[in-house]
Amino acid sequence: MAIVIDGKAISRKIRAELKEEALRLKEEKGIVPGLAVILVGEDPASQVYVRHKENACAEAGFLSRTIRLPAATTEQALLKLLQSLNDDRQIHGILVQLPLPGHISVDAVTEAIDPRKDVDGFHPFNVGRLFSGNPWHKACTPAGIMELLDRSAIGIEGKEAVIVGRSNIVGKPLALMLLARHATVTICHTRTRNLAEATRRAELLFAAAGKPEMIRADMIRDGAVVIDVGINRLADGRLVGDVAFAECAAKAAYITPVPGGVGVMTIAMLLKNTLQAARFSYRPV
Ligand code: NAD
Repeated sequence: MAIVIDGKAISRKIRAELKEEALRLKEEKGIVPGLAVILVGEDPASQVYVRHKENACAEAGFLSRTIRLPAATTEQALLKLLQSLNDDRQIHGILVQLPLPGHISVDAVTEAIDPRKDVDGFHPFNVGRLFSGNPWHKACTPAGIMELLDRSAIGIEGKEAVIVGRSNIVGKPLALMLLARHATVTICHTRTRNLAEATRRAELLFAAAGKPEMIRADMIRDGAVVIDVGINRLADGRLVGDVAFAECAAKAAYITPVPGGVGVMTIAMLLKNTLQAARFSYRPV
């Protein structure tokens, strides 16, 4: 029976550490890490995420500023706002909550954020730094996954790692982070011909497809580490991951639950990046 990795406990510990570091930064440099979150439109899931981010900031002693804009906001107005936040000395991290309304270019918005303040790690500059092995801000969800592995003392070097999903926010950056830690990495996606054959090879398996319970016990190897990134709401209201938890837990060595696994780590990493951004504001990078 697998050990269930307690993301909540790990995230709580990291946030407590960050709170202490923030306190020290305030005492030593007079700097309070500040995060600006921009929400365009009324997407209900985004409203919930933004509230969680505000609460996490408050708990850690960070400044948070949420800017709520109507769905009809023009791209030009949003870019102008980003420019003013780039110049705002109280704000060290800027996050534009996705998804954005269709008339706004996600690329234009992402690239308008000063890379030092890009705490989502989505700016091509930060993606490029990750690619070249010298990262600044790392994408929060994959960075959170790496923390879960490290704080559970799960080795990465030399391991056969298989990722299901190749998105820019999870699969691809996770592959780079695992590669940097000397795993042998395979990325699977919708056109992968024999998915089960690939996943069965995995000592470290990461499911990030957004398909409820698609990873079944016969797709994993005995003693695998199974990290479930998926967050799927079923018609009956239940929240499930991409992994069929009970049957895979019977076969895996470690497994993450949904909720309470990867999801809770993402905000902790956002705070970590914001603290790092606050340090960028006085320490040349
Ligand atoms: P996405 O839709 O952008 O990408 C999904 C990827 O999975 C694609 O590359 C696709 O090729 C692949 N895929 C889909 N179905 C597949 C299949 N049947 N077989 C093989 N590959 C398949 O999604 P995303 O934004 O990367 O998110 C993935 C999941 O992770 C979602 O459930 C999302 O809610 C969740 N997520 C969680 C967090 C978190 O904080 N825990 C953050 C981001 C995303």
